[in-house]
Amino acid sequence: MSPPVDFDVIVAGAGPGGSMAAAALSRAGWKVLVLEKKTFPRSKPCGGCLSRRVEALLPRPLLDEVVENTISRAIFTFKQKETLEFTTSQPAAYLVRREVFDLRLAREAEKSGAEFRFSTSLSSFQVFPDFVTVNTSAGIFKSRFLVLAYGAYPGERPFKARRRSLTYLALEGPVPDSGLVTPWPPEAVAVHLGSVAFGYGWTFPCGNRLSVGISFWPEKERHPKRSRDHFLKGLSLLKNRPRLKGHLIPCYDGQPVPYAGDRVLRVGDAARLVEPFLGEGIYYALWSGRQGAEVISTALKSGDPDLGPYPQAIAQHLHPEFARALQLARWVYACPGLFWWLLKKHNSIMTIYFSILRGQESYDRFFWEFKKKIRHYTGLRWVLGEPRRRFFP
Ligand SMILES: Cc1cc2nc3c(=O)[nH]c(=O)nc-3n(C[C@H](O)[C@H](O)[C@H](O)COP(=O)(O)OP(=O)(O)OC[C@H]3O[C@@H](n4cnc5c(N)ncnc54)[C@H](O)[C@@H]3O)c2cc1C
Repeated sequence: MSPPVDFDVIVAGAGPGGSMAAAALSRAGWKVLVLEKKTFPRSKPCGGCLSRRVEALLPRPLLDEVVENTISRAIFTFKQKETLEFTTSQPAAYLVRREVFDLRLAREAEKSGAEFRFSTSLSSFQVFPDFVTVNTSAGIFKSRFLVLAYGAYPGERPFKARRRSLTYLALEGPVPDSGLVTPWPPEAVAVHLGSVAFGYGWTFPCGNRLSVGISFWPEKERHPKRSRDHFLKGLSLLKNRPRLKGHLIPCYDGQPVPYAGDRVLRVGDAARLVEPFLGEGIYYALWSGRQGAEVISTALKSGDPDLGPYPQAIAQHLHPEFARALQLARWVYACPGLFWWLLKKHNSIMTIYFSILRGQESYDRFFWEFKKKIRHYTGLRWVLGEPRRRFFP
């Protein structure tokens, strides 16, 4: 007979990944505890941009409650000197405030029956053949399974040790409407290429504020402070210079990640499930939370603790797209001028990108179109092959 436990599943972290997993598991009838280090609502440095793919994971009424802006226009700048604009008849993305979005998802999980303990961190855990013990700031708990959904900062910072892994450093700050010289169009996001090395800058509207930030790969950006200052100076619509807060974005980089082991499974940023081209992580945190919950639920029902189907699902559904996105990131961020030149010549490439955000197209198609056009114009057959690992993640 199995020894008694306090919960069927403990989830560490109440971001989108953790709350999604907790909601799905509670709905399936399991006893779930969510540990969250902070108190909610809490702020999280984030652009808050959700691709419309999210409609497959979240119900319409919930989205209607949290979406602040619907995006149908993209503005690109190159070195903040030249500008290109693209519009789409069908919206491609949504903007949310993370403090509102994450709180709403946590409430959904609570309504489904999950127990939440805020201001309670997971400090360590130990796996036994039939259960897991979880040490927290509020004592020790025992569960059958553990979901690690603690984001990019679990405490022990496992990603720091991985040299050359693709972890972007992002600096973000919200600017209230009153801090703008002219109002920002509520349906437009701007992506600034060539402002930082191996990355991009952004200006995203969200309700009555604008999220301003840069995201770059520190291995390549040697002068982040100088680039940040230069970027902010180039944003002529700002009355004052906002204070940008730093945070890590642990992206998929093709290196192995222990997605699931004995009775423990990782979701979202804790599993590096961030698409490396745009740095989109919210959708993948939700996807992996739901997928992880399904696999744990099956294991609980059958009594077989094998979590193998979870990494298999990631390899099947996410890795092919992530690998293409990584290949694109390597070329676009290393040679932003090349991408800019292509955008100017072929605006059809953005039509494909909008479709990717809506979940109707793949990065694979985008990559091949990109490659075909670059080869056509340059006549060089080697363009967009595998770049040398010495220079790229
Ligand atoms: C500046 C910036 C801009 C970004 N912009 C976008 C964007 O526009 N669109 C997009 O899709 N993605 C964006 N991302 C990525 C996105 O924010 C993450 O991928 C997403 O939040 C991952 O969700 P998660 O649930 O895995 O982790 P998180 O949202 O980070 O949640 C983890 C939770 O775990 C808690 N926690 C941490 N340690 C412990 C512990 N030991 N015990 C208990 N709880 C703990 C934390 O307090 C937190 O609430 C951005 C990231 C950054 C840094």
